[in-house]
Amino acid sequence: MNLKILVYTEEETLAHEFQEALSVLVHDCQIPLGNLTKVTISNRMSKALGKTIKKYEGENPEYEIRLSSVLLDPSCPKEVRMATIYHELLHTCDHCMNHGSEWQYLAFMVSQKTGLEITRTRDQDELPEEFRITLAAKQITMQSLPKYQIKCTKCDFQTDRKKITSVVRNLDQYRCPECGGELKLYQYQYIYK
Ligand SMILES: [Zn+2]
Ligand SMILES: [Zn+2]
Repeated sequence: MNLKILVYTEEETLAHEFQEALSVLVHDCQIPLGNLTKVTISNRMSKALGKTIKKYEGENPEYEIRLSSVLLDPSCPKEVRMATIYHELLHTCDHCMNHGSEWQYLAFMVSQKTGLEITRTRDQDELPEEFRITLAAKQITMQSLPKYQIKCTKCDFQTDRKKITSVVRNLDQYRCPECGGELKLYQYQYIYK
């Protein structure tokens, strides 16, 4: 299945903010961070704002941080994003995969340094109310947007589907109603904007 990216993300801003957080943690707070190798944006996280995944056990493990696409919404307050980035980065420290006393101690240090509230949970329920209302309104609009596009490989024929229908599921059994050509399926990918 091909991905059709319709709306661009604010990834450059995010890269900047990660640099800012890394500098505070490493230089200002002298916290030894783990080996972060990947940061991904997910639009499938229903509740959490971020998640840190340890790639393997053993010496010098690698970590991946996943952030909810909700954080890339332009109306998302920067403090919310930064607090999430700090929260997740601290999970890469030794003995900090949970929210135990070592993680809490570091989180307290960073809170003191930055003035941000680094809480033990990072859930969407904790977002500032105004931002939550904006998001909810956007989510309702998104439900009415198409999710799949079917296009003919020979002519201009194209059609959208909002959900998985028989043609989406069994595309190879269908041909273009205009010219009999082969059909191709695309998936729209939306980022809240
Ligand atoms: Zn956590
Ligand atoms: Zn056709």
